[in-house]
Formats: sequence, structure tokens, C-alpha cells
Amino acid sequence: PIRSNCSNGGHTTSRSSGKCDDGLDDTTKRWAIHTLDFLSYDFSLEMLYGPDGELPEKLRNLEPRLLEHVSNEIMDRDPNVRWDDIAGLEHAKKCVTEMVIWPLLRPDIFKGCRSPGRGLLLFGPPGTGKTMIGKAIAGEAKATFFYISASSLTSKWIGEGEKLVRALFGVASCRQPAVIFVDEIDSLLSQRKSEGEHESSRRLKTQFLIEMEGFDSGNEQILLIGATNRPQELDEAARRRLTKRLYIPLPSSEARAWIIRNLLENDGLFKLSKEDTDCICKLTEGYSGSDMKNLVKDASMGPLREALKQGIQITNLKKEDMRSVTIQDFESALQEVRPSVSLNELGTYEEWNKQFGSLS
Ligand code: ADP
Repeated sequence: PIRSNCSNGGHTTSRSSGKCDDGLDDTTKRWAIHTLDFLSYDFSLEMLYGPDGELPEKLRNLEPRLLEHVSNEIMDRDPNVRWDDIAGLEHAKKCVTEMVIWPLLRPDIFKGCRSPGRGLLLFGPPGTGKTMIGKAIAGEAKATFFYISASSLTSKWIGEGEKLVRALFGVASCRQPAVIFVDEIDSLLSQRKSEGEHESSRRLKTQFLIEMEGFDSGNEQILLIGATNRPQELDEAARRRLTKRLYIPLPSSEARAWIIRNLLENDGLFKLSKEDTDCICKLTEGYSGSDMKNLVKDASMGPLREALKQGIQITNLKKEDMRSVTIQDFESALQEVRPSVSLNELGTYEEWNKQFGSLS
């Protein structure tokens, strides 16, 4: 009855201010709502309970619906990406293996002088594999992966971002080793003092930095990875905490060839000669990994479109009757899928890399 009378469709935000006349004082009401929350969310939070059947101390004061959101939406139980799925980026893979994966696998060796930084920044154009690297780190280090977009913290969770951040770091610390991937981290740790910078976003930023500070000094096995397409917007405090900063550039010609082959081979569609593949790679200078994926997708529709043009019904179409994907399909696809990153932008990344990036 308390829930249905006083709550606002299950949203705790307005509960404490409920003015229903049920004869209960505010503290009792809050306690009851909290208890009801725990009871109703018990099942999905089960995995957070310790062997003693209790919720760990540090999670007890956090709102169950936020813990639930972290467990269900932000925590990825199966990131399912391996190093071998990522084309190129050898430099980044080498740095990350040494700086992150080994320490997560062997915390006993990586302490004292060898203790690793807890913050890693991946910066570069969109669609170049930053998120993939984050997932691969978690996969290779057998760590729990948490993915959150910082812009959703500032837009979707207005006024509640701080609490969600606390819940996120709380759950991560109960699921160590953990990798927290914060996409578009610039929108959270930006140096821009926008005119309307709200008190709430300032508080959110402070809370975030406090949480980072917390696991940086302890023995916790939590790594924070920030990803951004706008590194120049990060402020000094953010740079200080994200000690290793890796530039994730556009894929090289070899990496583009690898993406084409890998995607088509997975579907048993790869029949291109080396000359044709080389030619496509020449034509795709400046394409990101994500652009390449879209290009391959579009090209692989070529044989299907052609069959349908010949009057065959989609329901009668036999897979074995379809021709393989050709360079002509790629040439048509190139008209549709254009590169998404401009040369100008690349210059900005390279400049920032020279100034702040970890070059070796
Ligand atoms: P970012 O986080 O840098 O914006 P993502 O990691 O989300 O980019 O990549 C988007 C998609 O583009 C991936 O799911 C993948 O299909 C493709 N992609 C991007 N970079 C690579 C790469 N280096 N190797 C293989 N696929 C890639």
C-alpha cells in the first residue's frame, strides 16, 4: 500500500516527498519503501549477494533500482570480443596488454614500483575500435565489463547521475577484477565551463573524480577506461587521472583488408582476389573500421539485389544460387557509404597525441 499510495510509478525520486495521509512518519515510510524495494528487486540483485547471503556493506546504502540498473544494463556479462577480432592497432594492443591485462591477471607481481595506472584514455575518431578494445580487455583479463555513456549520465539521469555513479563504482568493486568503460568521457570531464553548467553536472563530475581517486589509491582491481572523440575538451584533472593516453587511429590499408576478409569470411562470402582487395583498400583511404563494416554490409547486398532484380521472389531465393560478392558490388557501395571522418579532424587528433599521448 505504501508503494501504490505514495510512490510515483515505482520512481523513488518523489517518494520521500510523498504527502499521503497514512499515519506513518517520513523515516518509517522511507525505511518501508527501501525494504519493499529490496524485496521486489531481490531476484535480479541476487548475483551481488555475498556467500553469507547478505548484500556487501558498500552497496547497502545505495538504491536498489540503481544497483539493478547497473547489474542489468551497464554490466556486460559476456563482452565477447577478443584481440583477434580487432584489426590492426598493434601499438595499442601491446601497450594495453602490458599496462592493463598483465596487472589484472597477476596483481601479485604488479605492485609497488610496478603498480599500474588505473586510468586509461582511448582517443581518436569515432568507429575505430575503442569500445572493442575495452571489451577485449575485459575478455582477455577475465574481468567484468561495465559500459556507460557519459552523455547518458548527464542527459538521461539528470539529477541522479551522482547516485548512479556511486552505484556503478560500488557494484564494480564487488565484481573485481572490473573494467569500467566510460564512452564520451569528455562530456563528463570537460574543461568547458558552459554558461549553463548546472550545479548538478558539477557535482556529478566531482563525484566521478572522487570515485576514481578511491580506487586509485587502494588495492582494488578496477580499471577505468575513458573513450573520446574530443580529447581536446578534457581538462587537466581528467588528464592527470587518465595516465595512459592511447591514440586509436583510422585503420591502415592492411587493417581495412583484414576487416573486409574477416566479415565476408564469417558469412562464407569471401571470394575476392588479392588484386581486388588491394584495389578496394586503395579506394577506402580515410574510412574508419565502422565505415568499413557498413561498406561490407552494403556490398554484400549486391548479389541479393541483383537476384531480386531478375524477378526472383525473396521467399523462393536459394542461397546457393546467389553469386559471390565482387569488386563491382564494392564500387557501388562506395557511392553509398562515404567516410565519416574528415582530414581536418585527423590533424587535431595527431596534434593532441603529440602533446599528451603515450607515444610508446
Ligand atoms: P569506437 O568505440 O571507436 O567509436 P567501436 O569499437 O564501437 O568504435 O567500433 C564500431 C564497429 O566498427 C565495431 O563493432 C566493429 O564492427 C567495427 N570496427 C571498428 N574498428 C575496428 C577494428 N579495428 N577492427 C575490427 N572492426 C572494427
